[in-house]
Amino acid sequence: MGKPTGFKEFKRKTEPYRDAMERLVDYKEIYTDHHEEHLATQGARCMDCGVPFCQSADGCPVYNLIPEWNDLVYNKRWKEALDRLHKTNNFPEFTGRVCPAPCEGACVLGIHEPAVTIKNIECAIADKGFEEGWVVANPPHFRSGKTIAIVGSGPAGLAAAAQLNHSGHEVIVYERDDRVGGLLMYGIPNMKLDKTIVDRRVNILKEEGINFESIPTLVAVVKTESLSNNS
Ligand SMILES: Cc1cc2nc3c(=O)[nH]c(=O)nc-3n(C[C@H](O)[C@H](O)[C@H](O)COP(=O)(O)OP(=O)(O)OC[C@H]3O[C@@H](n4cnc5c(N)ncnc54)[C@H](O)[C@@H]3O)c2cc1C
Ligand code: SF4
Repeated sequence: MGKPTGFKEFKRKTEPYRDAMERLVDYKEIYTDHHEEHLATQGARCMDCGVPFCQSADGCPVYNLIPEWNDLVYNKRWKEALDRLHKTNNFPEFTGRVCPAPCEGACVLGIHEPAVTIKNIECAIADKGFEEGWVVANPPHFRSGKTIAIVGSGPAGLAAAAQLNHSGHEVIVYERDDRVGGLLMYGIPNMKLDKTIVDRRVNILKEEGINFESIPTLVAVVKTESLSNNS
């Protein structure tokens, strides 16, 4: 727990969105820059609950270790906060932007005060990780010799691919759309999740050894094989 009296001293203050008049003339993300001092103060509001509902089944669906990284951000230990975040979450730069934050709805502080600004803190940890160059490809040292096909490159497919690749399997992700990412790419609008953020992560997955195949290619292979089988 960063500061035992933090929740009594500091009020919840979320990061503001960009001015509406500015947002009217572009399609860029609506978020403003992160301010580390501000986020450290907000992290100090976390009570490090004995039973942290934020990371329970009623809170974070991926069981993020929220009180741990709140404390680390309060203490300005951002790299360690990033490592903790990546333990449970393959793509915190996505969830920090688009997750509806059930963790905040479940936050114990929320019973009598506004909840801890968990989502802002998560996004800031992920963004700082990229800014500092801490998020880089980390290919497996060992290959199992097994090959796994994943159909669909939405967040579910990408997370499964990342996990299986880290376990050493050869992973091929098949996608029928012309770009990788599923609804991250073609559902959620740019103002919430810029597509360069999706591409940036996909490129890291590629560097880690994951192969992406478009379905037209697959169909072509199947057709070629059936043609050669018939001849
Ligand atoms: C407009 C919109 C806005 C949203 N906003 C938010 C938000 O702000 N926050 C949030 O948390 N969630 C949001 N969601 C929901 C979120 O996008 C989905 O829950 C999430 O993308 C589901 O992930 P998925 O990987 O299961 O499936 P998808 O993202 O749907 O990915 C499935 C992929 O599989 C591919 N595929 C399917 N069948 C085949 C096949 N036979 N062969 C090859 N490829 C195939 C599809 O082309 C697609 O690329 C939004 C959804 C929409 C539509
Ligand atoms: S429930 Fe709220 S106050 Fe308690 S540990 Fe989680 S974020 Fe901190």
